Amino acid sequence: MTYRLEANALDRLFKALGTKGYVIFGPTVRDSAVVYDRIESPNDLPAGWADQQTNGSYRLVKTDSPAYFDFTAPPQSWKRLLFPPSLHLFRSHRRNGTLEILEEEHETEPMAFLGVRPCDLRALAILDSVYLNGGASDSTYRQRREKTLIIAVNCTRAGGTCFCASMGTGPEAGAGFDLCLTELVSEHDHYFLVESGSAKGESCVSPLQAREATPQEQTSGREAIRTAAAAMGRSLQTQGLPELLAANLSHPRWDQIARRCLACANCTMVCPTCFCSTVEDSTDLSGAIASRTRLWDSCFTAEFSYIHGGSLRPTIKSRYRQWMTHKLSSWVAQFGSFGCVGCGRCITWCPVGIDLTEEARILRGQAAEHV
Ligand code: SF4
Ligand code: SF4
Repeated sequence: MTYRLEANALDRLFKALGTKGYVIFGPTVRDSAVVYDRIESPNDLPAGWADQQTNGSYRLVKTDSPAYFDFTAPPQSWKRLLFPPSLHLFRSHRRNGTLEILEEEHETEPMAFLGVRPCDLRALAILDSVYLNGGASDSTYRQRREKTLIIAVNCTRAGGTCFCASMGTGPEAGAGFDLCLTELVSEHDHYFLVESGSAKGESCVSPLQAREATPQEQTSGREAIRTAAAAMGRSLQTQGLPELLAANLSHPRWDQIARRCLACANCTMVCPTCFCSTVEDSTDLSGAIASRTRLWDSCFTAEFSYIHGGSLRPTIKSRYRQWMTHKLSSWVAQFGSFGCVGCGRCITWCPVGIDLTEEARILRGQAAEHV
């Protein structure tokens, strides 16, 4: 069933989540950007803010709208809460000739992620396939993921670099949410449509005291999502894409991209599905205490592919090609889906504005549209 929750009653959702013991993470404005962090009430949400995004550019602008969720994919994704950028794995103490290993505790409180965009919902499913269902299950990721309630918010506005509609990952949430909201704002009305996708989500609905949505209200929700899909300015033609990339490893375009790419790794840091990491060991000055830390890493660094005396990918050309062909070609064979959900973050946050949808188009022999 779909419910209607008045926007001015959104605090009931916060109270319901708090009563169930969830710590709420959601969007809030900080340092001129939307970030996902702990929030306490609807007052923390970015009401009246919208983003303007294009190649290499992100701006938040104030609007007259009371909408809480008028922004699109922000710089951070939910990845950092489940797969932290820095995680202490263990410490070792040497005492009187014996070595004691102390594993770090990574227990967390139950978390509610409020405001998961459809592309990021799909990205969480991809991370699940890597860290829960792949060959190397990750205990920290599993502990956090199992305690997480997902509240998706459908997109009713397309961002400047989004292309989820062409990837089949948005702007309407697919499977995997516990609750899903659609925010509708008109001159005289402001409300949310609320659907549950699990028993955990359903248990949060009755405290909302929301009434059943009328067919007209539900139609308005579908229309708003359709409008966002139609307004999406970018697309990626996925048909035959894995084969196209695999057949073009020697294409001259890779040299041209390499002349622009700075190998800064921004694209992999903001990507909601990139999952590469490294470990660093350190010791104190006495040598008695050592610790191991897992850190996010990137296929754009020379060190990442360093094996036995040399880097497997010594050139920027080979690193960009590795990243793009993994996302859009070999990921399919590895995990059964693309490694890209069309959030557009790598386009927005690339300092030189490289756009993988354009690069794919050029590799197909088509004219570029956005460069
Ligand atoms: S590759 Fe780019 S558009 Fe695709 S999911 Fe990653 S950041 Fe988003
Ligand atoms: S593609 Fe852009 S964001 Fe990615 S490493 Fe190159 S310059 Fe940095």
